[in-house]
Amino acid sequence: MVDRALSRRGLLAAGAAAAAGLVAGCTAAQGDSPVRRTTSAAPTGAALGPADPVQAKIPVAPTALPDDVAARYAGRQPAQWGMDLPGILTTVPAAGKQMALTFDACGGPDNDEINDVLINFLIQQRIPATLFLNKRWIDFDPGRAARLAANPLFELANHGTRHCPLSVNGHAAYGIAGTLSAQQAVDEVWGNHETLTALLGHPPRFFRAGTAHYDEVAVSIVRDLGEQPVGFSVNADAGATYSAAQVQQAMSQVEPGAISIAHMHRPNSGTAPGMLVTLPKLRAQGYEFVKLP
Ligand SMILES: [Zn+2]
Repeated sequence: MVDRALSRRGLLAAGAAAAAGLVAGCTAAQGDSPVRRTTSAAPTGAALGPADPVQAKIPVAPTALPDDVAARYAGRQPAQWGMDLPGILTTVPAAGKQMALTFDACGGPDNDEINDVLINFLIQQRIPATLFLNKRWIDFDPGRAARLAANPLFELANHGTRHCPLSVNGHAAYGIAGTLSAQQAVDEVWGNHETLTALLGHPPRFFRAGTAHYDEVAVSIVRDLGEQPVGFSVNADAGATYSAAQVQQAMSQVEPGAISIAHMHRPNSGTAPGMLVTLPKLRAQGYEFVKLP
């Protein structure tokens, strides 16, 4: 167990280093490469399932005006930084063997493609998923985003405007500097909030920061803007750097209530071949794929 965990950490670190080497600030992130434990290794694993006490007790506030939210948190100093802070959804309430698939489209240079094999497989197999789209990915081909929005299998969610770690003081993840202030954090959420609202005809319900990192002030900002911050419990492709075999290994760690993260903007990655094998296996084991609640 320990050996496997160390091995995975090494692989993830390599992916993160590759991502960091290719980016300048948060405007041009490669895929997220979150260094993240699987569900089975999670220190909060006991919270999996319907009774997650933290998430259940924190309602998302009604949408406030973005300027008011920025003013509300101006100058606030955060004390926490990470991917599973209180208020971030990392598991779903599971009735039996349910889990939620999420796929990110990070956008920006070299990250504007779509993994058609993966998306077409989800459609063909009637597998629902939540798709976190960055504003740059939407703007690259709005018609493509509109076609995804028109498919009831998919819920489209907010993956930020410039793909920044969501910080109020410039905290970095994988060498990618986060937003510098409450105002920048609001702008990172709200820029794509407006794009998605126009695309969908209603506001997006879910947000995942670039690199999936937040401080606790930024988590409150997202919630005050009417969106639920989302993390994950199973890192399925490490920023689309995993081989197909590694994707299958990661997804074999799924437990009821899991939220998996993978990426849909790298068609030549191991993500599609891995998912095409592992998703039917999970279904054969009795898993039902659900959207985020
Ligand atoms: Zn991303």
